[in-house]
Amino acid sequence: MIQTWLGAVCIAWLLVQAVLLFVYRHALTAYWREPVLRYPVLIFESDDWGAGPLEQAHRLDALRQILKGHRDQWGHYPVMTMGIILSIADTEAMCAAKELNYIRISLDHTRFKSVLTALYAGINEGVFAPQLHGMEHYWPPVVMAAAKTDAQVATWLKTNGIPQSEALPSRLQSRWIDAASLPSQSLSEAEIGAAVVEEVSMYTQIFGTKPVIAVPTTFVWSNAVERAWANHGVSCIVTPGTRYESRDTHGRPSGDSRVILNGERGQGNVMYLVRNNYFEPKLGHRAEKGLDALALQTACGRPTLLETHRFNFLGDLAQSKVALAELDRLLTEARAHYSELRFLSTQDIAEAIASQDTTLITTTLRTKINAWLARINRMSRFWKLARLTGLIVPLWLLGKWAA
Ligand SMILES: [Zn+2]
Repeated sequence: MIQTWLGAVCIAWLLVQAVLLFVYRHALTAYWREPVLRYPVLIFESDDWGAGPLEQAHRLDALRQILKGHRDQWGHYPVMTMGIILSIADTEAMCAAKELNYIRISLDHTRFKSVLTALYAGINEGVFAPQLHGMEHYWPPVVMAAAKTDAQVATWLKTNGIPQSEALPSRLQSRWIDAASLPSQSLSEAEIGAAVVEEVSMYTQIFGTKPVIAVPTTFVWSNAVERAWANHGVSCIVTPGTRYESRDTHGRPSGDSRVILNGERGQGNVMYLVRNNYFEPKLGHRAEKGLDALALQTACGRPTLLETHRFNFLGDLAQSKVALAELDRLLTEARAHYSELRFLSTQDIAEAIASQDTTLITTTLRTKINAWLARINRMSRFWKLARLTGLIVPLWLLGKWAA
């Protein structure tokens, strides 16, 4: 009698665990399929550089010097990707013109020579890696339309000197939607296609190669944008681990909340990579925040892609120096903690995943299990249920075996 009871309890217990695994099967298999890196990798993903204030030139030089002060054991410098904005409103020309039309000034204009020289220097030294952020950090017709009702935008279009896209209302900094009024509206596929042709052509003219990696401004983009980029040579899109496609009635980015993992594919077979944390010293982020992210992502077998922006390094000189010092400290500490730390570019990671390069991506079962357990450990609801149902026991045993 007791044996029958015990047998029934065991079967019920196993059944509950099987149901839990079944319910979470998609997420669990996705985390298993996500590539696992052999080494800790640290990359700074930096946005908004290019057509903008000329002070960028010497701030880029200062960044280059910090990055060149560090090397991994293979002799590579740390890489800071540069999300490039190719042009901005020529507000002075627009004010001088008789009719109110949008006029752009591009990064290849002689006015930006110093900025471009600093960018080229870092690219040649291997500390900067350019990525396409956009022709503009906004959709020009939308900014023009918004200026009719929004005084802040109208004032921005009359900036004396070169304006900064950061000063636009946040909703207008999304390039691939019409957010003149909210909720935002989609742009047509034809408009998107034509704009992508234009931006890819200008990027190629300035940097000598087509863009391989694109970073959507404010992470708002659509299938149509992916298709257009893929059609013109972009093979990788940097994401925040999800996709936003519009702005809601409050101007907040809004999407379908799906989770995007490294190596997953989108329209036109573009590969997604994921930025997994922020390093914005001007917002109070210290080196420790970057080190915590590096520890977590290394345990998860992922590269650590830290998002940062030019605003940390522009403006107030004292604050900019603090930002540089924190960057320097983060690199020093990271090298001290991880002897196998590798400095690679985001493109290196994308290419290694695409070619299943086993010098960087592991195929060892135990290493993969450890990374998978670290990943699913972050699924708090699943983990709570695993505790409740006792599934934690076989998972723990699996971890012990893999350790
Ligand atoms: Zn940006």
